Amino acid sequence: MEKFIAIQPNIFCEPCKECGERPVIAQVKSKFIVRCPKSKSHYQTKPGLVDIKDWNIKNKVHAPLGNKETSKKKAS
Ligand SMILES: [Zn+2]
Repeated sequence: MEKFIAIQPNIFCEPCKECGERPVIAQVKSKFIVRCPKSKSHYQTKPGLVDIKDWNIKNKVHAPLGNKETSKKKAS
């Protein structure tokens, strides 16, 4: 059985881009993985330190770089 550790509510986390769940921390031996509680096949960080930053980058669904500016220009 896998045991998950909840991430403190005051820490900002992107929801899982596959299912929208808030990520959890899983401990594997002495290492930590930030992952989706629903499925192993959803994104998970590499074992090591708790890397919520990496999780957030990988689960951002918004289009990368500059897209906002482009749409603003079009609108005005
Ligand atoms: Zn998920």
